[in-house]
Amino acid sequence: MLIKKASYLISCPDIKQCPAGDRPEYAFIGRSNVGKSSLINMLSGHQKLAKTSGTPGKTQLINFFEMESLKGSLQEGADRDKKGQTGPASKWFIVDLPGYGFAKVSQSQRNQWEQMIENYLRKRENLVNVFLLIDSRHEPQKIDLEFANKLGEWEIPFALTFTKADKETQKVVAKNVKSFLDAMRATWQFLPRNFVTSAEKKMGRDKILGFIEECNEA
Ligand code: GDP
Repeated sequence: MLIKKASYLISCPDIKQCPAGDRPEYAFIGRSNVGKSSLINMLSGHQKLAKTSGTPGKTQLINFFEMESLKGSLQEGADRDKKGQTGPASKWFIVDLPGYGFAKVSQSQRNQWEQMIENYLRKRENLVNVFLLIDSRHEPQKIDLEFANKLGEWEIPFALTFTKADKETQKVVAKNVKSFLDAMRATWQFLPRNFVTSAEKKMGRDKILGFIEECNEA
């Protein structure tokens, strides 16, 4: 897939203000500081699309990005000359959801977050997949497992997306991925798809974009 356009559209405090769901939508969520903005930037090919902020947990909004992509694997930049060969552009949304697990928020802010996220995830009809981001450096964390279980209970399709894989050896990353899947296996018969990524090394980009392309075409 070639990204033709990636631009910020709007931030909404609530599902009621979200733009018309007239295209496939992919949401990204995870613990504060998990590397969500970096991953969105890496996927879009725009280093400043989502903010990589030093103060996690501040934005409590549903952030929309408009995406347009072309099928194929031409080098970035080559699409302009060969547009005709790649077919029409697909339009889709990336949604950057506020992170969870930030210690310095009050209980009432936390409740508000939960309500907003649950409403969005359960009511947004054009939501195709949630990418649940998990820091690959750590053993399974309770808060991430709980969120994965919630998504399962709500029957929302999701993919485990392990981040920052460049920061540990392949062996440690593989062990942590396996432990997370094993922990899920205790409750779920079918395990979600998983991706191992590094924004730093652009690892996992083709696989995730390929998956989105498949979903867009389905
Ligand atoms: P967010 O709060 O989940 O949006 O996280 P950010 O994208 O802002 O990243 C948090 C910190 O982790 C920043 O200092 C990033 O530079 C760093 N980071 C994010 N992704 C990676 C990665 O793939 N590799 C490395 N080495 N650092 C990363």
